[in-house]
Amino acid sequence: MRLMSRREIEEFYRRLAETRPIPQTELEFINPFTLLIAVVLSAQATDVGVNKATPALFALADTPEKMLVLGEDRLIELIRTIGLFRTKAKKIIALSRILVEQHNGQVPRDRAALEALPGVGRKTANVVLNVAFGEPTIAVDTHIFRVGNRTGLAPGKTPLEVELALEKRTPPRYKTHAHHWLILHGRYVCKARKPDCPICVVADLCHYQAKTGPAELVAARASTSEPEPLAEPAPEAVQRRRRAPAPRTSSPRISSRRGRASRLP
Ligand code: SF4
Repeated sequence: MRLMSRREIEEFYRRLAETRPIPQTELEFINPFTLLIAVVLSAQATDVGVNKATPALFALADTPEKMLVLGEDRLIELIRTIGLFRTKAKKIIALSRILVEQHNGQVPRDRAALEALPGVGRKTANVVLNVAFGEPTIAVDTHIFRVGNRTGLAPGKTPLEVELALEKRTPPRYKTHAHHWLILHGRYVCKARKPDCPICVVADLCHYQAKTGPAELVAARASTSEPEPLAEPAPEAVQRRRRAPAPRTSSPRISSRRGRASRLP
């Protein structure tokens, strides 16, 4: 795999930024705590599936204190449509207790403190630091791992290797939004099975050896039961799926997003 050059990386991000000037997570949340819970719930689950369950949950428990009052049994009932719901419920109750007892009920803006919470690993911590607090972290999920390796942007054998390569090779001014640009590109265009190379805005910069040809793309779409978009969803289409932000909370970066749809990490 040939690495992208600095010039190619700059142009790669410039085009992704042009496509989605203000990319956002697709997970629904209200404040840093509900973001944390949504990300924990999204492990091995889709954002769409998580978003179906969380409005009812967050209406009852949008703080760690309320989550403890809600209790594990009621929590299980509310999230039972999400995979691994029993394990996740245990972890959510445990992390809520730690937030109350050790962090004054607040989500800490600190990687070590976040990773010390049950159910929170490096990826979840990176998402929370980035989305809730505006830190320039890049959480590597399956989509970003694929895009980083395929394109030559940031190859690596493990998510951590890709994350460190992205950290090193992403121009500083693109770092805050890099996570969402890459994840959305991987989710909607550079898809796992058959990437939409003929309509990809960064195709000429990408070093993937097995790019999809136009005929292959048509055939792939014909074989799927659900029609796929002919191009990346326009930014306004993504925005329509979100509700207008509500007034700021105590967090410097979080506005109320209850009821809106989103995706990220
Ligand atoms: S050209 Fe194809 S493989 Fe390369 S980034 Fe675009 S969709 Fe992915």
